[in-house]
Amino acid sequence: MPRYEFRCRACGDTFEVNRPMVAAGEPANCPQGHADTVKLLSAVAVTGRGGAAGGAQTPAAGGCCGGACGC
Ligand SMILES: [Zn+2]
Repeated sequence: MPRYEFRCRACGDTFEVNRPMVAAGEPANCPQGHADTVKLLSAVAVTGRGGAAGGAQTPAAGGCCGGACGC
């Protein structure tokens, strides 16, 4: 299940939520109960990382990501 990272604008805390992709755009309350949160875009690409052995795909040099994203 994808993991999404949120940041609370009320207290500044960041937290992660595991939820189905169909619910990705729904709001999430922070652990302190605030509803004024924004979704961050960082955590989605992490899916599937657990099985990679050897680290051959680790971006080492060149651009922000080793060229994987084409930027
Ligand atoms: Zn909060």
